[in-house]
Amino acid sequence: MALARFRDASLNPLRLPMDRYVVIGNPVAHSLSPAIHARFAAQTGEKMRYETLLVPRGEFADFARRFFGEGGLGANVTLPFKEDAFGFADARSERAQIAGAANFLMRKDARVFADNTDGAGLVADLAGNLGVRLRGATILLVGAGGAARGVLAPLLAQQPARVVIANRGVARARELAQRFAARGPVEAAALDAIPAGDFDLLLNATSSSVHGERLALPAHAFASGKLAYDMAYGPAAQGFLELARGRGMRASDGLGMLVEQAAESFLAWRGRRPDTAPVLAELRASAS
Ligand code: NDP
Repeated sequence: MALARFRDASLNPLRLPMDRYVVIGNPVAHSLSPAIHARFAAQTGEKMRYETLLVPRGEFADFARRFFGEGGLGANVTLPFKEDAFGFADARSERAQIAGAANFLMRKDARVFADNTDGAGLVADLAGNLGVRLRGATILLVGAGGAARGVLAPLLAQQPARVVIANRGVARARELAQRFAARGPVEAAALDAIPAGDFDLLLNATSSSVHGERLALPAHAFASGKLAYDMAYGPAAQGFLELARGRGMRASDGLGMLVEQAAESFLAWRGRRPDTAPVLAELRASAS
């Protein structure tokens, strides 16, 4: 039944008019990735198709094998399959190995290569689009799930002065801090025991916004004049952003991260780096 659904959504490569890419997730209909890649393709003149592929939980490997077997060239992977994608691949980039998860797959000859472009996307958005100086910065990273894990190595590579990982379940924060200790000044804290820090950057890498839940942070997590960033985007992020603005902070959702990680994917697949600024501007205009 599930494979029948996949067949409906797939194309025989012999009949394929264009190179084929997908974003795999569950749910996935809401994904902005097809619209983003369509704009990158139009901008660069690349002939390609990029669609959503809804995969039932537990069936990632079957669907991915079939997609690549039928000539698919690449996939982005979103919740809840990033670890499945990592396990599925024949080879993995160092940054995917560090994260233990992949949001990017690419067929190279008969092998599938996995990468994780989330961290590069976040750093590009923070440093490039939002003008944040990460070198020497003090960063409060809230959350210790897949997204936090994926962005830690690229963040630490920017040489911040201090990264505090705060999580509801402190054991997960400690595990992450330990795992990344060799890469930079990283420490763990419970949400209700965040140390004083006058943080230059407050990064919300929890899924509280997408679940419509309040993120309980102490007042000193919010530093007036600094940037608060929610990796969630669109209406879901607004509650957190309003809270941060109410404390005098600049605030941004994760739409730029999404566009920048897509650009990293596009570059790897097509060998051309798209201009993200007009795509991000268009997305922001259509969201307002
Ligand atoms: P995970 O499910 O892997 O992790 C969820 C994290 O959120 C855990 O640390 C969990 O804490 C914490 N959490 C959940 N609810 C609450 C709450 N009410 N209060 C405090 N902490 C909470 O999710 P991901 O890491 O994959 O995703 C996190 C966010 O990042 C999502 O909003 C996702 O949409 C976004 N994202 C955005 C991307 C982009 O391109 N913009 C790319 C990737 C992710 P605990 O361990 O205690 O349960």
